[in-house]
Amino acid sequence: MAIKVGIPRALLYYEYYPMWRTFLEELKVEVVLSDKTTKPILNDGVRHCVDEACLPVKLFHGHVMNIKDKVDYLFVPRLKSVAKSEYICPKFCGLPEMVKYSMSDLPPIIDSEVNLRKSKSQLYQSFYRVGKLFSNNTYEIKKAYHNALKKQAEFINQVRQGKYPIEIIENQKIYANGKENLCIALIGHVYNIYDQYISMDILSKLCQQGIKVITPELLNEEMIEYKANCLPKKMFWSFGKRLMGSILHLLDMDNIDGIIYIMSFGCGIDAFVSDLCERKIRREKNLPFFLLTLDEHSGEAGVNTRLEAFIDMIRWRNRNESNISVHG
Ligand code: SF4
Repeated sequence: MAIKVGIPRALLYYEYYPMWRTFLEELKVEVVLSDKTTKPILNDGVRHCVDEACLPVKLFHGHVMNIKDKVDYLFVPRLKSVAKSEYICPKFCGLPEMVKYSMSDLPPIIDSEVNLRKSKSQLYQSFYRVGKLFSNNTYEIKKAYHNALKKQAEFINQVRQGKYPIEIIENQKIYANGKENLCIALIGHVYNIYDQYISMDILSKLCQQGIKVITPELLNEEMIEYKANCLPKKMFWSFGKRLMGSILHLLDMDNIDGIIYIMSFGCGIDAFVSDLCERKIRREKNLPFFLLTLDEHSGEAGVNTRLEAFIDMIRWRNRNESNISVHG
């Protein structure tokens, strides 16, 4: 019987799942995913995580609870840095410990460190440490690693061609109504945008209303990088840099009717970046901006009402161009 490794369907699952899955499956490991987010999963996460954590980290704990009894290992890599000279949020670095000390009866945790701050070559070491758990054959591990990178590159390529990550990872179509007459940018961390429960499926809601939705993943990465590097001071948080660079890139585009920023309550990076984005948008372009803060108490009815009001306001404004404030 194959060894089972559990991957929680949360946080950077929406970014790296194709690579992780390919690597493990190449080594004859069975990958077990937690279920899609539901209210009980979120409640479990809230119950088993420290109060101070942000919503996505609490949710991650809920997903761990959802699979911990079905697998031989849990995959919770310790992510320190995913790009040269940059860091990611410290919560990713301490995630294996947070999980370990918040829950009991856990299977062994695979917490191999990923630290690409100095060099990308560290990535192989990180995969190698994981591979050694399942194979003694270095050639086999190397092959699995290269195939995993190839799969991730294919995934990125498909996203660049206009597919949302969730459509590829979960093989689920986001339906548009085919009569797009507005273009709105949806900005936020992948786990806030693509987790349909947490985001209350804003992406589909917008698409179904004839709105073309652009997310950071669909934008040109080189342009994001270039724009982020135009900031007076280098932003060394990878996520913050991507979000800020995306906003600056969007401000150069002529077809954007409005920007929605989804942030998590309790996220230090979002608190800082969303404020910076709003100031830039106010200063440089007359674009409507909507900041949506999510926490475990967010109610769908309230979010729907605010979303509808925002879209109505943009449509009204486009029809009756006047002196109405872009901030409602
Ligand atoms: S970047 Fe923000 S939302 Fe993401 S894990 Fe860190 S604190 Fe939480």
